Amino acid sequence: MRTVYINGEFLPENEARVSIFDRAFLFGDGIYEVTSVLDGKLVDFPGHMARLHRSLKELDMPFSLTDQDLLDIHRELVALNGIDEGLVYMQVTRGVADRDFLFPAKDTANTVVLFTQKKALTAKPIADLALKVITAEDLRWRRADIKTVQLLYPSMVKTMAKKAGADDGWLVRDGFVTEGSSNNAYIVTRDGTIVTRDLSTDILHGITRHAVLECARDLQMKVEERPFTVEEAKNAREAFITSATSFVSPVVEIDGVVIGEGTAGPVAAKLREIYIERSRQAAQ
Ligand code: PMP
Repeated sequence: MRTVYINGEFLPENEARVSIFDRAFLFGDGIYEVTSVLDGKLVDFPGHMARLHRSLKELDMPFSLTDQDLLDIHRELVALNGIDEGLVYMQVTRGVADRDFLFPAKDTANTVVLFTQKKALTAKPIADLALKVITAEDLRWRRADIKTVQLLYPSMVKTMAKKAGADDGWLVRDGFVTEGSSNNAYIVTRDGTIVTRDLSTDILHGITRHAVLECARDLQMKVEERPFTVEEAKNAREAFITSATSFVSPVVEIDGVVIGEGTAGPVAAKLREIYIERSRQAAQ
């Protein structure tokens, strides 16, 4: 049984309790971060902290724990659960208040919950990670840049993808791909340029996206941050996704159309290798 963290305590998972009046339960009024673990260490913890603070600020959500407090809690949970590879999920909600749309008083205590999941992140060869995606209209609210727990639509899209015999969905607004249901989306054009949508309120500002684009630029790869259409994606030489737990994973089919050779492409393979290498070195 796992040990989890809830509001200052480390408890067996079946003893942790959250109120039915928690605003995340009633209003989706909560945010989260998922940090991957390699060799028992946290990957890009400062990046996740920076995004947590951004989400808190955008939602005007008070929060009193420091980054050092959160780092200590993450490390303690990784140790208590013996995680060598996997992830730490952290959720912060606006707390518990009688049901009312208005935000409660500023001194309402947050609910803070963390738990770990063991997951093999690096063992599989890249060929086994090749994904088939379907496209779906991006029907999420218009603040996809805030990492809230309102994940119903991504959940629906992943279920639709599975029913269609695919692995995941790419979301499309006005003909242009925004991002994957739980990852950022990329293509490699015929002339070798990596294209991914520019940062805005339309997409989550992926921590892995930031690091992977830095790897690409260091490797002298050409990068364009701009919207691309589904048509352009279907004609691309390669496609791939990034996220904290999938790192860089190739996409080999979009709506049944085979991309490139139909296997993991060289750009995705190189970026995955370099990203994992750098992440291992910098993990803390
Ligand atoms: N976009 C969406 C919609 C996501 O849910 C995620 C992962 N939570 C990402 C992108 C990737 O972000 P990160 O690299 O920080 O995991």
